[in-house]
Amino acid sequence: MVLYVLAFSLVLLAIASIDNPAEATDNDCPAGWVALTYDDGPVPERTDAILAALDVTGTRATFFSVGIRVARNPGVALDVARRGHVTTNHTWDHPDLETLSDEEIASSVQRTDVALRAIGIRSLRLVRPPFLRTDERVLAALERAGFNQVLENLNPKDWSGISSTEIADRVVTAARDGSVIGLHDGGKEYEATAAATEVIVDRLTGDGFCFGVLNQDGNIVPPPAEGAAYAVPEKVVVDESVWIDYLMKRTR
Ligand SMILES: [Zn+2]
Repeated sequence: MVLYVLAFSLVLLAIASIDNPAEATDNDCPAGWVALTYDDGPVPERTDAILAALDVTGTRATFFSVGIRVARNPGVALDVARRGHVTTNHTWDHPDLETLSDEEIASSVQRTDVALRAIGIRSLRLVRPPFLRTDERVLAALERAGFNQVLENLNPKDWSGISSTEIADRVVTAARDGSVIGLHDGGKEYEATAAATEVIVDRLTGDGFCFGVLNQDGNIVPPPAEGAAYAVPEKVVVDESVWIDYLMKRTR
């Protein structure tokens, strides 16, 4: 119960933070705003490679985390948050939500939310359904559970074994104001995606685009001031053995 109260407070904090993004003017971004999003982490080495690429380019992104991977790799999840990226929800174990009951859908996203908040990460209550599979019933079930849904509108299929050059070309060619770019930090093709990330940022920045993050409604907003809105509180002490036990007991 205490955890849920804490979680609710953090939601309010997260939402308040997003309403006050860093100052940015359209003059800085004549081509508009795009968002890099990464699904299926956190995974050691893979997510680390994406974070390194984002660090090199000074870009912040939005990460759709899989709950069971947060439970297994809390340190990686914290790395994402501590570097100022936005963390949000990609379900507990990556099911096709269309095959689950309403109750199972709610449980899958709520467990992921608890896993993130248990280590002090202010996750958005924003879900990207695995495989982008969703329908009106899934959407309604998510909303009843207190979550919004977001998909993507630029999908270069970075998981398909194509080169980093091809991934970057597909993104740069299709990018427009409002593009939500779907990439992966949790898949085996992470090296190509990491290399592509640097090229995408360089080329789109040169074309006059700015890189934003997603907010609770799934809209692109400027990243918050460095270290402000998404920083994990210094006071959070993670006893991984205790909370992983707790999470595993909740896993059917
Ligand atoms: Zn996925």
